[in-house]
Amino acid sequence: MSMSRRNFLKTTLGVGIGAGMLGLGASLLPTTAAHAALTTREMYVFGTLVNLGAEGDTAQAQQALNTIEQRFLLMNRDWHAWKAGELSTLNSALAEGRSMAVSDDLASLLRGARDAAQASGDLFNPALGKLIALWDFQSDVQQRSAPPAAEEIAALCASAPRMSDLRIEIQADGCYMVSSRNPDVRIDLGGYAKGVALDWALDHLAAEDLHNAVVNLGGNLAIAGQRDGRPWHIGVRHPQGEGVIAAIDAQGREAVVTSGTYERYREWDGQRYPHIIDPRSGRPATHVVSATVIHADAAWADAAATALVVAGTQDWPEIAARMGITQVMVIDAEGGVGMTAVMAPRVSFVGARPARVEVV
Ligand code: AMP
Ligand code: MG
Repeated sequence: MSMSRRNFLKTTLGVGIGAGMLGLGASLLPTTAAHAALTTREMYVFGTLVNLGAEGDTAQAQQALNTIEQRFLLMNRDWHAWKAGELSTLNSALAEGRSMAVSDDLASLLRGARDAAQASGDLFNPALGKLIALWDFQSDVQQRSAPPAAEEIAALCASAPRMSDLRIEIQADGCYMVSSRNPDVRIDLGGYAKGVALDWALDHLAAEDLHNAVVNLGGNLAIAGQRDGRPWHIGVRHPQGEGVIAAIDAQGREAVVTSGTYERYREWDGQRYPHIIDPRSGRPATHVVSATVIHADAAWADAAATALVVAGTQDWPEIAARMGITQVMVIDAEGGVGMTAVMAPRVSFVGARPARVEVV
């Protein structure tokens, strides 16, 4: 296997489904030469580089990867936070106090996001699209020249849009109707939709009898089975610089999802404002710079990783426990690493060991 092939899960920067400029959260690390052929696909969707790989019959794998590629393009359109599609149509309706019939897929996505929001104590809060827009993260290029005024932030915090403001009801005709009792609810699924896409892709591959596979959405990785009879070897990006801070082996069905404040930020007057907003203050979360979660369900892992960045260095263990997440690695702004006891034995640091490593 060539070097570039072994390193095929590299990513670039871009802008897309609400998450915007995504750096590399995790990647596949080079391993010794593998014998089982891996059918791969690379595409640009969700504002990031997406890599797929599946062992097994090549024609069958190609066919499955085609289907996933098409589906990802539709998901990106339908669930985009600020470009025309089903979600932005719904957001317009909610802002005007109207209810709207939505597809089964969007209804199930919203219900899943609502459950995750509730479990996280609303630290994962995809109803805060208005705040995210206020901070200028819902645009491809920077629009503002300064952070928002304190009064604007305070007004949205006081209105406190939450997923629990949504009503998602099935009608007699089987259609779902969505309404909001708070007109300030604007849904932004940038912290969740990639996880849903990861789960969907692995489900589809399994249904097509492709049980050894990897899907990488800009550093959010989900794997199934093994690679050539051995675990998949995954690198977690160092929040400073481009290198890898830790290697993790994964097998079976697992998602390794990383939220990082280094991924996307705005700069005003020399100061960085990262893209993950603390719903309590209405301001960017800055204490945790990277949260990596391993969990069987990628959508839940995606929501949790975002929530743990918001939770901060003191509260992340409590929020992880509330969400039923047992495998977490958190890196703080000083480079200190915190891990759960279940995560610690899985993590091999690459290069210099971090100055402070705490297992909680
Ligand atoms: P992630 O990389 O999964 O942490 O997602 C980050 C993206 O989620 C941001 O670019 C926003 O679109 C959105 N977001 C920001 N803050 C929050 C939050 N507190 N809860 C849910 N989504 C958020
Ligand atoms: Mg997330």
